[in-house]
Amino acid sequence: MRLDLLATIVGPATRLPCGIFLCTAHGELLAANPRFLAWLGVSTEDAGADTLVECTLPARWEPGDSRTHRRQTWLRTLRDDQAFSGESHYRRPDGSLITLHQSVAPVGDDSGHFIGVALDAFAAPATNENVWYAAHHDAATGLPNQQLLEERLDLRLAALRAHRGTLTAYVIHVRDSGRLRRSGGVPAWAAGLQITAARLRQVAGTHGMAARLGGGEFFLALTGDDPAEPAALLTGLGEPIRVGDQVIRPEVCIGVYRHAALDDTAGTDVVHRASIAAADALAAGGSGVRTYSRRLQEALSERWELTRDLARAVSAGQLHLVFQPEIDLQSGRIVAVETLVRWRCPRRGPVSPAVFIPLAEEAGLIDALGSWVLDAACRFARQMDVRYRDAPRVAVNVSPLQLRSGDFAAEVADVLARTGLDPAQLELEITEGVLVDDSVDAGAIFERLIGLGTSLAIDDFGTGYSSLSYLARFPVARLKIDRAFVKDLPDDTRALAIVRAILGLAHGLGMHVTAEGIETDEQAQLLRELGCELGQGFGLMKPLAPEGIRALLTPRYGA
Ligand code: C2E
Ligand code: MG
Ligand code: MG
Repeated sequence: MRLDLLATIVGPATRLPCGIFLCTAHGELLAANPRFLAWLGVSTEDAGADTLVECTLPARWEPGDSRTHRRQTWLRTLRDDQAFSGESHYRRPDGSLITLHQSVAPVGDDSGHFIGVALDAFAAPATNENVWYAAHHDAATGLPNQQLLEERLDLRLAALRAHRGTLTAYVIHVRDSGRLRRSGGVPAWAAGLQITAARLRQVAGTHGMAARLGGGEFFLALTGDDPAEPAALLTGLGEPIRVGDQVIRPEVCIGVYRHAALDDTAGTDVVHRASIAAADALAAGGSGVRTYSRRLQEALSERWELTRDLARAVSAGQLHLVFQPEIDLQSGRIVAVETLVRWRCPRRGPVSPAVFIPLAEEAGLIDALGSWVLDAACRFARQMDVRYRDAPRVAVNVSPLQLRSGDFAAEVADVLARTGLDPAQLELEITEGVLVDDSVDAGAIFERLIGLGTSLAIDDFGTGYSSLSYLARFPVARLKIDRAFVKDLPDDTRALAIVRAILGLAHGLGMHVTAEGIETDEQAQLLRELGCELGQGFGLMKPLAPEGIRALLTPRYGA
């Protein structure tokens, strides 16, 4: 190998627009062209064997002699004579930073020498033909993607550690990008994302970092003691987005994590912590800002563990059902029973469905859970119908998400066929939100369910949207007045007025009414007088296991 010739090519005479250098596996610089040295901030005269190692910024900070680490960075990069291609970070003698995209390969088989070619990563032409660029940026917005973001964050954190600087990270979730995609197609959606990206770039300026994490999720990092005021950020990003003749007002959730760069927290952890805060803001609904805290992380970990245990319980068949009677307030007869799912977690004891149903919805477990409940409830209903003269109808709660995914009506048809249950014995309870949710064609689904012969009830009526125009359009058989109104009867005149109004409305539309949460005799008496057909509540009957319900019924064929 003619090293002297290589050194001539690589050395001062070369004026190529890229950097070229020759080095050893230890990072000892043997030769370099002026462009490369200029990027490192070193003049040709000052360059020496140590230049490369002196300027190298290790990707991660470790305790001990930093020079050793810098040398090891080279050794690790070039170990086993491997070629290397990727981003390398340098700190110039004046303290400024530069990121170069480098390819380094061994010269010959065992010369121990390497040749490197470098491009300024930030100045690299932003075209999709540039494979590196395409692999490290988001195609829709041109912002760095998560991989590049985390590499650059590591670099920035290493630099901040040196002078104990601070960094504020924001994970920003723009909720309405999906709606734009549905109404305006992919081009409108991409345009919406680009507008958000441009707003973030403006806030980031030259010293901050903006990136797209995926979907409607973005990242922003600002250094220094004077970060963007989250409230101002929220207002700026929530400004209406105009795409063609469409205007959307995005809902923005921001998670904030303030990092004092004293420890060796990696970029990926910084993103993770801001994401935890953003998830909390998202869960609260609407637009909002949340700040990361360790307590928040612990609460989230607990939720994850609960979700994991729930997933196991669903697949291992560890859930069971209880049934709460709905009673005819005039005759005292049990007309229906509402199916309520129960989970006794081996580690935690009983967990309320008010806690685990929302978790199941969030974690994508609700379809499996809902199918199991529907199947088991229909089997129980069929068994009662065969054995008892006065078998009650069985009501099953249906999550709005079950209507959104798959073909719910086909599932109901299937379970009816499988169990042989008379469809008139099945009632499905749906919450009001479904009526106004434009991602569900509620009308079509309801028609099919009623076509099968099942009946529909609106659950928790009065707490949701209570959209009267929708109510009139859908062929619903029953309203269930939410416990919130019943609990203040008989003394609260406002609650009484609402209950009267709901009864008038329902009866006017030809629907029947169940009052939920009846706890006292006075409540039952009043509701009976007001003409409410059915009552449900601890004051009438608590939820019972199947044996408990069976014990209340009259067998068809003797005892
Ligand atoms: P929901 O459908 O409105 O069910 C009525 C809830 O009120 C039940 O709580 C029931 O035990 C409770 N309740 C009944 N009478 C009284 C009373 O007099 N006083 C009080 N304080 N509470 C009473 P539970 O079983 O904890 O269920 C809570 C919610 O969880 C249900 O509200 C329903 O939305 C959901 N859920 C329960 N089982 C299922 C299921 O199988 N699938 C789905 N998707 N949701 C379910
Ligand atoms: Mg219900
Ligand atoms: Mg209810």
